[in-house]
Amino acid sequence: MDIAQETLGLLAEETLDPADWATVQALSHQVIDDAVDYLSDVRDRPVWREMPADVREAFAAPLPRSPAPLADVYSEVSRTVMSYPMGNIHPRFWAWYMGSSNFTGALGDFLAAIQGSNLGGGNHAAGLMDNQVVNWCKEMLGFPASASGTLVSGGSMANIIGLTVARNAKAGIDVREHGVAAIDKPLRFYGSDQLHSCHRKAMEALGLGNRALRRIPTDAGLRIDITALRAAIAEDRAAGCKPACVIGNAGTVNTGAIDDLKALAKLAHEEDLWFHVDGCIGALIAIAPDNAHRVAGIEWADSVALDPHKWLHAPFEVGCALVRDAVAHRRTFAVTPEYLESTPRGLASGDWLHDYGLQTSRGFRALKVWMALKEHGVDKFGRLIDQNIAQAAYLAGLVEAEPSLELATPPTINIVCFRYQPGLAGEALKALNTEIMLRLQECGIAVLSDTTVHGQHWLRVAIANHRTRREDLDLLVVETLRLGREIAGAASS
Ligand SMILES: *Cc1c(COP(=O)(O)O)cnc(C)c1O
Repeated sequence: MDIAQETLGLLAEETLDPADWATVQALSHQVIDDAVDYLSDVRDRPVWREMPADVREAFAAPLPRSPAPLADVYSEVSRTVMSYPMGNIHPRFWAWYMGSSNFTGALGDFLAAIQGSNLGGGNHAAGLMDNQVVNWCKEMLGFPASASGTLVSGGSMANIIGLTVARNAKAGIDVREHGVAAIDKPLRFYGSDQLHSCHRKAMEALGLGNRALRRIPTDAGLRIDITALRAAIAEDRAAGCKPACVIGNAGTVNTGAIDDLKALAKLAHEEDLWFHVDGCIGALIAIAPDNAHRVAGIEWADSVALDPHKWLHAPFEVGCALVRDAVAHRRTFAVTPEYLESTPRGLASGDWLHDYGLQTSRGFRALKVWMALKEHGVDKFGRLIDQNIAQAAYLAGLVEAEPSLELATPPTINIVCFRYQPGLAGEALKALNTEIMLRLQECGIAVLSDTTVHGQHWLRVAIANHRTRREDLDLLVVETLRLGREIAGAASS
């Protein structure tokens, strides 16, 4: 306590800043060194491993009441959190669908937290950068500069943003004021039976209900059947409903199927529907020279959800919603309470970015995306997408060359569904492949997930990973065959 305060008899005021910055600085250097080692050695570690009991128990510790040195806090984090990751930064992680992060993006997240700006709005540099990254997303997809957009937590939120604007634009009444109960004809949304589950959640949260989302059958390639879609729309109109929105898939989560986006755009125009594209997986294929043609038509959408934390490998979280009609977008979310009025000059003279979504306070997500794009240039991200798609074709070739492996369907993009097939069927085949998947995880060799396609169970490899090499896929095939023989052999003996 300083002398003047003591003599005045005042209490020392506290802060979270360290008493000794030099110690914190030295520890921070250590953290960075460890982080660089952590990423440069990732290939040599198991993809995933089960946590021992003492590590699990660490997460049941009660609320700390007394202080601990930061060095001790960090050492506990190293031992527990850092040592037992999900594994998605590893070159042989191919489960579900996510990116594999990058060091520059992590620095961006760190600096964003240090600079600390709130992206709810205001006249400051982070706000301009947030807007710039949205503009870059438009440019990557061929969206007009007049469109609007917002960075959100991920694809699920980005889809909710798009579908909320769609609902309000097509409701025929002021939904914000009167609610969905006042809509005269029940709204109907459409998408294929391969839609991601977040659309169901969106329909529920929007008060329209799951049944207002009609799942349209798909063709052999798991793309929406346009004739069936037209029939469903006609049927709903005849039944007194109001067809409002069609959701196209630019890359389905099961197999990476891409709906005919041009045909959907045309149909939406003819039927006066909002055209939303779930591009969480595939919108960014628009920047990949060899494959961009697969998502042609995406630039005609009324709204698109895309996911920089997938194929741009931004550290979690960052998704992006784009809306062609900026006025409709703002009209859906803008409110100006008395405590957030803008001023002619100064900090409150900037755009209120919370007018484009549900959040008020918002993190500075743009920086991690911006720094990685600046460092590498967008073309490299495009080439990495092409590389993953070529790797999926390579894996499909390996699968086809092995008599005891079976391919579900030739991959369109970067998702390969296959299974070990020693002449079994039904539940026995599923149990065998599930066991292969679990042992691949438990041995730390590779992480895959599984799914059902055309009513059959398959192992699923989604290669959205800038660290994957073809040799990793060779290893996957070798190990799948080895485990398959081992498990099937043990079962039959
Ligand atoms: C990942 C994904 C989502 C959800 O995105 P999150 O970023 O996980 O919220 C939605 N749709 C598709 C097709 C996806 O692959």
